[in-house]
Amino acid sequence: MSAPRAFEREPYLTELSVRVVESGTDGGRPWAVLDDTLFYPEGGGQPADHGLLGGVQVLDVQSVGGALRHFLSAPVSEGPAVARLDWGRRFDHMQQHTAQHLLTAVAADRLGWETTAFHLGPETCDIELAAASITPADLFRLEEVVASEVRAARPVTHRRVPREEMASLPVRTRGLPEGHEGDVRLVAIEGIDLNTCGGTHLRATSEIEALKLLGTERLRGGTRLFFVAGGRVRRRLGSHEERSGRLRALLGAPDAGLAEAVEAKLVQLSDAQKACRAAEEELADAKAEALAAAGVPVAQAHFDGRDLAFLQRVGKRFTALPVPGIVFVTGVREGVEAFLLAAGGASSADVRVLGAAVAEAVGGRGGGSGKLYQGKGSLAARDGALALLRERLGA
Ligand SMILES: [Zn+2]
Repeated sequence: MSAPRAFEREPYLTELSVRVVESGTDGGRPWAVLDDTLFYPEGGGQPADHGLLGGVQVLDVQSVGGALRHFLSAPVSEGPAVARLDWGRRFDHMQQHTAQHLLTAVAADRLGWETTAFHLGPETCDIELAAASITPADLFRLEEVVASEVRAARPVTHRRVPREEMASLPVRTRGLPEGHEGDVRLVAIEGIDLNTCGGTHLRATSEIEALKLLGTERLRGGTRLFFVAGGRVRRRLGSHEERSGRLRALLGAPDAGLAEAVEAKLVQLSDAQKACRAAEEELADAKAEALAAAGVPVAQAHFDGRDLAFLQRVGKRFTALPVPGIVFVTGVREGVEAFLLAAGGASSADVRVLGAAVAEAVGGRGGGSGKLYQGKGSLAARDGALALLRERLGA
């Protein structure tokens, strides 16, 4: 491990005079290496810090061969500069990360579940626990114990120790990073946890404010446990309140009745859709009967706002009627232009041959079987297709 940087020595420091000692570009992205830094590089499940370096935005920080590269919105010149941390983002990360230490310690010591991974996302965080399943009662207990440890305002401290000393300490660790050399950084939550970690942490568990468990998901034989902590609890509750308020106004129901109100609306919608489908089918049958009654060799109609399913219903009904002619129907719905040919029950016309000619005439394609042929194409050529059909049938 290299010499402690400012983010490690003083995690509450938000401004620092530094020197840009090296600079370059990587894939077109300018970067700078500093003699000391406030910006935590992505690692250990915690995202990189953001901020400003000499007025230029720091967009990402990555450890490259032991050096911390600050990826920037624009190049900076080598020499002195002032670094300013995006403190809102960092403090949020410190809250989520310290909450994770506490949650991991309580889950292991009280419930026997070891943490195998941690992920700090933009909205929620999660840890992966070596537990095949977790009951709601256990989750409730876990959250209660964590809350009591937040209230206890336990100090959180960090120190470095020689690696040999680690063996004699009750250290909880998921293993040191590959290639680790020199001292080991330990982070302690007084009385409950001692952990190897290079991240940024709060001064005391009370600064976590609150930790809310959100739910679980099974994963690779273990369980992923989602949570939010600190300001995220308040922001999340705020957005839930806003959403509930909108739903209360829309549905005219109190919070406790919102789910039932939506269920009732979904039943109404399903009933209405069924009634609508039945009415559409009746209409299609009536249209087919009217077209058959016209008694012409090529009956035709266009239905704006109707899809191929409607045309199929018209065609199918038409084939069941004892007429010698054919019907040519078209429809447009949501920009899809469709056509269908059907031969009457007393017709000997080969609709597959006729249909292929129509498909070609409208610049589209289609297919059919028996007395039906359907396809898609441009209905701008509809009149031409109709003339072609009349000519073929000698009408
Ligand atoms: Zn940590």
